[in-house]
Amino acid sequence: MSHTHSIRTLLGIKDEHIIIQKENCLKEEVANGLHCHVLSATLTYTPKACVRCGCVNQKSIVKNGLKTTRPLLLDTAGYPTYLNLKKQRFLCRECGKTFIAETSVVKKRCHISEDVKRSIAVNGTRNMSEKDIAQIHRVSNHTVKRVFESFYDTFRQTYQFLPDNLAIDEFKSVKNAAGAMSLIICDSDQKKIFDILEDRRNKSIIDYFMRFPKEQRAKVKTVVVDLYGPYQSLFQAIFPNADLIIDRFHIVTQVNRAFNIARISFMNTLKKSSDLKDKRDYTKLKRYWKLLLKREEDLSATEYSYQTLFKDSKTERGIVQYLLSLDEGLKQNYDVYQTILFMTNYRKPELFTAYIHEKKNHLTAKMEQALKTFRKSETAIVNALTYQYSNGLVEGINNKIKVIKRTAYGYRNFYNFRNRIFIEYKLLDIKTAA
Ligand SMILES: [Zn+2]
Repeated sequence: MSHTHSIRTLLGIKDEHIIIQKENCLKEEVANGLHCHVLSATLTYTPKACVRCGCVNQKSIVKNGLKTTRPLLLDTAGYPTYLNLKKQRFLCRECGKTFIAETSVVKKRCHISEDVKRSIAVNGTRNMSEKDIAQIHRVSNHTVKRVFESFYDTFRQTYQFLPDNLAIDEFKSVKNAAGAMSLIICDSDQKKIFDILEDRRNKSIIDYFMRFPKEQRAKVKTVVVDLYGPYQSLFQAIFPNADLIIDRFHIVTQVNRAFNIARISFMNTLKKSSDLKDKRDYTKLKRYWKLLLKREEDLSATEYSYQTLFKDSKTERGIVQYLLSLDEGLKQNYDVYQTILFMTNYRKPELFTAYIHEKKNHLTAKMEQALKTFRKSETAIVNALTYQYSNGLVEGINNKIKVIKRTAYGYRNFYNFRNRIFIEYKLLDIKTAA
């Protein structure tokens, strides 16, 4: 392999019309205070036809000087790298006009090579801010935006087709979006984002789904939604034949929050008390509160370890038993939390519905409220414990969106934000022929 051929391979310059200078082809220079590599080459060939008038070259096109350009290549050995490329200028004797030699390495009138652009486009799928992508490629933020626009189509909904099984959740959107919250719609089977709606308010949700053909809406089988009341009747109206499913995670969150409130309010009464034992119990609750949230069945009843606060060896179960013995209200709320957790985890729809109708004592207002919400959404909860679908997928996507938003230092424009989400989820193909 010749010397220049090796350089060609290293830099990814495949165009044979680019002839790398024989002597001293690679120079080290300082540009803008930065050490950089500059490779000198010439682009020349015999054109088949004139690009201006289209006439076939029968010795009618002659070489007419060189035009020096300096496109940016990808870094080599960590240094910014430029191609000092002298492009052949041609004169067409037929039309009298001139034109410049072209290459696939760098587009006409472009200051960055196609490789750099491709690398920018690929980095768009990673969770990096546009600013960071611009910086590592040594280009402006604006260039990154332009490359995204040229490499990825903007996502457009066709309103022709709806997935059979949907999962819908909301997320806090960008500042300029209409409505503070946006809606994310996923295909539960494909495990993919189906669309992102700027505004999660009822009117815009209805407007959006009503644009799909009626038979498409009628064939939707399940919709996973959160417990937020108005959504359930709304989606039932939009998808008349669908079974609504409350996300299991949301069921547990309800009782989890309610139980935490009960625990904190009990802890506050202990904190205010002047009794020394109350103060000690407060410290114990403060130390071991996480055990109360753990699934009861996961608490160890056999492994003893010395606990300074008890001045004794205790098992996890022993500690929890002690904490619950402190207050009847705490224990009752704990029981509801654990029961719901158990029935949700082991999918016991019949037990669940029976349980939420049972009369219970000593529950906090928040816990009563949670049970009331469950009673109102009974069918959707039974579905949640029957179907396999859940919002885990959407929650995951939602978390990633938060990260995208954070690394982007906040998108101002909702559509740019949405497109970046689609790019990161690789839902937009890189255009091959640009
Ligand atoms: Zn011509």
